[in-house]
Amino acid sequence: MRLPALFAFLPALAMAAGQPIPEGFFPPPPAAPAKGEGVCLECEGRGKVESALRAIDTGENGTTFRRACPACGGRGRAVRALTPGERERLQRQALNAYEREQRAARRTPIGAGFMEAEAAKALSPEAHAALAARFPKRCRVCLGLGVEECRKCDGRGKVGRLERVEGEDGETRTETVVSVCAACGGSGAVPCRRCDGSGLAKVCTRCDGLGTVEVEAKRDEPAHTELCRSCKGDGRR
Ligand SMILES: [Zn+2]
Ligand SMILES: [Zn+2]
Ligand SMILES: [Zn+2]
Ligand SMILES: [Zn+2]
Repeated sequence: MRLPALFAFLPALAMAAGQPIPEGFFPPPPAAPAKGEGVCLECEGRGKVESALRAIDTGENGTTFRRACPACGGRGRAVRALTPGERERLQRQALNAYEREQRAARRTPIGAGFMEAEAAKALSPEAHAALAARFPKRCRVCLGLGVEECRKCDGRGKVGRLERVEGEDGETRTETVVSVCAACGGSGAVPCRRCDGSGLAKVCTRCDGLGTVEVEAKRDEPAHTELCRSCKGDGRR
């Protein structure tokens, strides 16, 4: 049956919105969100901060004030940019749940996703490789996030360093001076060292990332294309 001309634009729209997912294919979970609720980093979850102000009006020296943390309103938790470590934990949880489900159903891994075994078997090597390229296998270190937690600041983007300061009373005290972490520029994240920030598994050297290899004709076999055995058609490993 031919489609009426009126609907001829539909496939083009589907292409624009991303190709339809082939039947029987289960895409991997999306990347963990960049923002979410976590322990407030300003007060470390205590809900209170010690004020650096001194009681100038009463003339009292060395008085410290504990007040509700302004960043979280005293809740100890805040919606904020998640640290790479927190994102990695979320990502790992989601991936583990996804993979358990796929393996329990005995589906076939293709790229970062899985496919019903029968549907996967029916794919041509080219179609298999194309699907793997569309859902590329992820880096096993950063799980596709492309970033790692900065070790200098534990993902906080700030570092505290003890400094001796002279107070108005002439006494020297030790104070923690907080500054932007120089190693990550304050983002708390550095590019993943394994994938250089791409989030992808390494390109397979046997097939140059194609996922397929050309096999020359033999006595009882014509020339043909088959899945690369090193990467199982993923093009990455
Ligand atoms: Zn707080
Ligand atoms: Zn990586
Ligand atoms: Zn840092
Ligand atoms: Zn390969």
